[in-house]
Amino acid sequence: MQKTLDSAVSSAPETDDVLLGSLSHELRRHLLFTLGRDEIDSDPGYCFRAAAITIRDRISRDWRRTRELLASSDTRHVNYLSLEFLLGRSLNNAIQNMDLDEPMRKALHRFGVQLEEVLDKEHDAGLGNGGLGRLAACFLDSCANLQLPVSGYGIRYEYGMFHQLIDGGRQVEAPDHWLRDGNPWEIERPEDTKRIRLYGRTERYVDDQGKPHSRWVESYDILAVPYDMPIPGYRNGTVNTLRLWKATATDAFDLGEFNAGSYTESVAQKNNAEQISMVLYPNDASENGKELRLKQQYFLVSASLQDVLANWVERHGEDFSEFGKKNCFQLNDTHPACAVPELMRLLMDEHQLEWDEAWKITTQCMAYTNHTLLPEALERWSVSLFGQLLPRVLEIIFEINQRFIAEVAEKFPNEPELLKRVSLIEEGHTPHIRMAYLSIVGSFSVNGVAQLHTDLLKSGLFADFDRIWPDKINNKTNGVTQRRWLSHCNPALRDLMNETIGRRWESDLEQISALAPLADDADFRKRWREVKNANKERLSKYVKQHTGVDFAPTMLFDVQVKRIHEYKRQLMNVLHVIHLYDRILRGETAGMVPRCVLIGGKAAPGYHIAKMIVKLINNVAGVINNDPRAHDLLRLVFFPNYRVSAMEIICPGTELSEQISTAGKEASGTGNMKFMMNGALTIGTLDGANIEIREKAGEENFFLFGLNAAEAQETRKSYDPNAIIAADPAIARVMELLEGGRFHESEPGVFGELISGLRSPQDQWLTIADLRSFIDAQDRVAKTYQDPDTWDRMSILNTAHSGWFSSDRTIQQYADEIWRVKPLTA
Ligand SMILES: *Cc1c(COP(=O)(O)O)cnc(C)c1O
Repeated sequence: MQKTLDSAVSSAPETDDVLLGSLSHELRRHLLFTLGRDEIDSDPGYCFRAAAITIRDRISRDWRRTRELLASSDTRHVNYLSLEFLLGRSLNNAIQNMDLDEPMRKALHRFGVQLEEVLDKEHDAGLGNGGLGRLAACFLDSCANLQLPVSGYGIRYEYGMFHQLIDGGRQVEAPDHWLRDGNPWEIERPEDTKRIRLYGRTERYVDDQGKPHSRWVESYDILAVPYDMPIPGYRNGTVNTLRLWKATATDAFDLGEFNAGSYTESVAQKNNAEQISMVLYPNDASENGKELRLKQQYFLVSASLQDVLANWVERHGEDFSEFGKKNCFQLNDTHPACAVPELMRLLMDEHQLEWDEAWKITTQCMAYTNHTLLPEALERWSVSLFGQLLPRVLEIIFEINQRFIAEVAEKFPNEPELLKRVSLIEEGHTPHIRMAYLSIVGSFSVNGVAQLHTDLLKSGLFADFDRIWPDKINNKTNGVTQRRWLSHCNPALRDLMNETIGRRWESDLEQISALAPLADDADFRKRWREVKNANKERLSKYVKQHTGVDFAPTMLFDVQVKRIHEYKRQLMNVLHVIHLYDRILRGETAGMVPRCVLIGGKAAPGYHIAKMIVKLINNVAGVINNDPRAHDLLRLVFFPNYRVSAMEIICPGTELSEQISTAGKEASGTGNMKFMMNGALTIGTLDGANIEIREKAGEENFFLFGLNAAEAQETRKSYDPNAIIAADPAIARVMELLEGGRFHESEPGVFGELISGLRSPQDQWLTIADLRSFIDAQDRVAKTYQDPDTWDRMSILNTAHSGWFSSDRTIQQYADEIWRVKPLTA
């Protein structure tokens, strides 16, 4: 035993037997000693923790080496700042990346547990809402895969994305205390704690040399304590770091209160400070302007910038001449936009730089990614709230604005309207700070996340800025990591591909195009179909387990999972399901293909309409699934608590991917890419990355429908949904079923707002305008599905042409065109 333990901590290569022996030994040691179990038992929860610690120990050597390499290298270092990292589970990813799948499986087997059972015990790290947070997680994975010097910075929320329950068809939110059983992946680093100021006021003073300055006084301070999570690369020895900050109180209690005998009250104040990192805000694509949210944003930004500056000073002293060249901060949307004035503040107030010098550095190292065109999602903070919480930061924003406006006035004389339009301060009854404009002015790069999105930014929302700085706005089409979203979540397909085209695609997804010729190979298609069917079986069991509904794997699996939002048009999907049900009731079933429709996603707790859409899906599902006439042709389910670990089972089993947003509204989408990789065919609009998906897959392998972005804008000018409904009998019958009360017998009127929205000429989402085209495209889907050879051929070609949508490609473009960094290897 002693010998095998030694081999586990040395770096000598281990033979299979030695590896199995040492893994078993380590698992046993952690069960007995780290976790204090009395005997070796097969409780999967404890086995999960033992396995995670075992893997973490094995990662830590590479982790330390990567940190040392980074600390001693002179290359530029990138810091990805994000309020969200939607990591999901880490154990399987770590096992696969360390190439320990087989031995870990065998070692656990010795304890009488299955690897899958153990993996299933891990809580999702749900520190994000949806696409934006998951993108940050895919990016970290790709940075580690490409061995780039990139660190993530975020918040260690005590409570992640809420748990969604369905009661009486309605969404109910429950807290997600994901840290309850501890987090085996994190390492606390109290020695790197930072102090954060809030409130107080600013004061002018003159220094020894007679220069005037401002300083922040009488602030209420809290502490930021870092917890590090390892981000292992794919079998390459690199382990990058995600640093998450937790808020705590300072030890210096209020002396006044202390002396007044309020010791306990004073200690209880700790709670106030800890609130800041208590809970993730569950709003996807909308802002609600709460003070606590601004505190979170500033807390993340200040702690992270102080951390980077402290490391700098340790190596270079107070010489900041190279700082801008050697550091980059990528802002994931405007949530961390305070980084611009905060870096100015730290450089000037804490490190005595002059404004011009500090501004040069700041604009050399900030880069901003925009994620949305929805006006309600553009962050604005009231000047008065901002000034109370961050008085010194506000002062700096005012000065940035003044200097910026003067610069524009010089460049574009006689355009007073332009100055008003681009001002960082929106004047009005209550003036607001425009965080997107602050980010643009303070950054050297501004990027959109799909070609259409970037084009729309340049021609619309940011047109003035594109005129001022023609080269600043650029495109970086999103991607997803093929490790998690194909290799790990779809092992059967991975094995089939590895057997036929080798495994280079796992770290270079363009290699997957070698599959394309196999689309014409009948034997290969048969095996492809067998894998899809097995994944449908797995999904069907999962659906049954969580909803009680039977999904028959012989039927077409039609899936829409994403946050519930009007622009994503889950409502249109339901209208199509009602249309199919109407056809069944009328006996018009010729050409229909049996379908199981799955819809899942969370609604923001305060988004009333989105919650009504959830209720409607559940009610329609209740009627259809209990009608024997529909049983063989149509089933509908609302899948509760959609999250990363659910998507890992859903996307391999999906055949039809619903990407049906109103054109011009979905910045990119990334769910669309996960489905494509796993061989689903897409039914979609010309929106976000769908356009690029269709280009790559070939238009004959994509079910296109609906208005494009320009047509949608044109349609809004004279939109008359009631006329469309009146002129199309099938649509009129759908509305009759919806309005007639069949889906809300016990609650008359519950869907009144949804119905009046559909019928309103003001309906931004143009659901009725696209419905006929959607129904026709769904008929083409049904027709194609009846010819399995054609369908499977199209399926293979979709996977084969998904190479562009790897986040490795996206990150390579960030590295080459924005960050200008190269891999860091020993
Ligand atoms: C990929 C993903 C998303 C993003 O989905 P879209 O369809 O692009 O909106 C949201 N949530 C989870 C859990 C995901 O895995």
